Amino acid sequence: WVRAAQAELVSDHIRLLIQEKASSLDMAFYDSPKYFDTLHRARYDAQSRPIALVESLGGLMQGALTLISMAVILAGYAWWLPLVLLISTIPALFVLFRFILRRHKWRMSRTTQTRRALYYEYLQTSRETLPEVRLYGLASHFRGLFSDLRLRLREEILQLARSEALSRILAGLSGLILAAGALFLMLLDVLKGVLSFGQLAMYGQAFIQGQKLTRGSLENVGQIYSNLIFLGNLFEFLELEPKVLPAEDPILRCGAPESEIRFRDISFRYPASSGFALENFNLEIPAGRTTAIIGPNGAGKSTLFKLLLRLYDPDSGTVEIDGIDLRRLDLDTFRNSVAVLFQMPLQFSATLAENISYGKLAEADRMDLLEKAIEAADAGEIISRLPEGEQTMLGPWFGGTELSVGQWQRLALSRAFFRDASLILLDEPTSAMDSWSEAAWIESFRRRQEGRTVVIITHRLHTARRADLIHVMEKKGIVESGTHEELLERNGRYARAWEAHGFSG
Ligand code: ADP
Repeated sequence: WVRAAQAELVSDHIRLLIQEKASSLDMAFYDSPKYFDTLHRARYDAQSRPIALVESLGGLMQGALTLISMAVILAGYAWWLPLVLLISTIPALFVLFRFILRRHKWRMSRTTQTRRALYYEYLQTSRETLPEVRLYGLASHFRGLFSDLRLRLREEILQLARSEALSRILAGLSGLILAAGALFLMLLDVLKGVLSFGQLAMYGQAFIQGQKLTRGSLENVGQIYSNLIFLGNLFEFLELEPKVLPAEDPILRCGAPESEIRFRDISFRYPASSGFALENFNLEIPAGRTTAIIGPNGAGKSTLFKLLLRLYDPDSGTVEIDGIDLRRLDLDTFRNSVAVLFQMPLQFSATLAENISYGKLAEADRMDLLEKAIEAADAGEIISRLPEGEQTMLGPWFGGTELSVGQWQRLALSRAFFRDASLILLDEPTSAMDSWSEAAWIESFRRRQEGRTVVIITHRLHTARRADLIHVMEKKGIVESGTHEELLERNGRYARAWEAHGFSG
């Protein structure tokens, strides 16, 4: 029971440590496969290593005590006999440590491949991958890749195990030779009449027992060493430090600007990318108005939100709110006052009410806020069709009802509105709406959010036209800014886009 309790407690505790650390690291880590390698190793080793460490420590202490008594007995014959016993184990010790290090090196160098095999498994066993994998008949292809990869990994690890076994046999043999030598000397003493047969039996037994015990203790030392270096993987993960650092003397203020939000000379490169996502970028977003940012895919529009939310910090330049560098603000206070709809919002396998109230957990039981949020996103119709209304379980994980992409998006929108935010950032809020719903929703949204600072990223011209200010963004930065009418008059990029859609004027 003690062992089971210990195993459960330690494993849960370490899993919590990993979760806590993972939650504290900024998005840059999640862009790199190195992070996932470190996480994979930490997770894998967190399960068994700490317990194994405690057990081998116990085993070692037990073995060492018995070994001391054997050494005392052997010293009765000759002072050097315990020494011979010790020396006879050196080859085994050498082999042990050498192979622990080799196994560790192998694990470190093969983490990415091990994860790749897991990925092939995931592609064949997950709900989200099923439609395309079935349609294109990819399952057996991925199974083949999995088998090939596992075969290669298996061969390598078995090769290692083979040479370890061989080295161990040789090391054992050298121990046997030393034991035979010691027994031979004792036998000579018997022949000389210095030692009785009874004594020979006793010392011989003690020597062989001693060797067994030393081997056992060695195994334990090996286990301890191995567990310690593999536990190093866990510590390697726990020692990762976030790069987005909190302000030293933070200013407590919400996200709403009084005059403007400004991106000033921003250059930013994603850690995993060689090119700049934004270079010498400048943009001003006025307070209390609705600004639309429109432009082609890959121009860097979503990146603006990630910088504004400090999911990343820019390489150079500053994001400012009323002239204050974002990095000087208290991050939690700032983030808590911003409502965001991300381009690919999360679908929680939870009740519909929970899906919305996760927008502000502290007020999760406020039904009035829930109703308001549902109304603001025009999500009422979804609820009227659900068997248990707001308490209906959603998502595939725990047997919930499934919604359409557009319905999930409305819920995410409700979640954003659940907090009474003073700054609202919406990334493609109307992408899953048809054009009739889009027009109606955007009108009611404008009425509701009157006076707040709203930024909408969109590729929909009809959504953009209703904004107070439209910025046209391309890879090289903002190329045009103005109201819908001003931009049409300018006859530039924006006007051409309207013409192409047959909506000139
Ligand atoms: P938009 O929202 O305008 O379509 P994004 O801001 O998403 O564009 O992306 C801007 C550029 O940054 C693109 O070239 C994209 O490939 C790159 N990018 C986006 N996210 C990442 C990332 N996590 N790692 C590396 N490059 C990225």
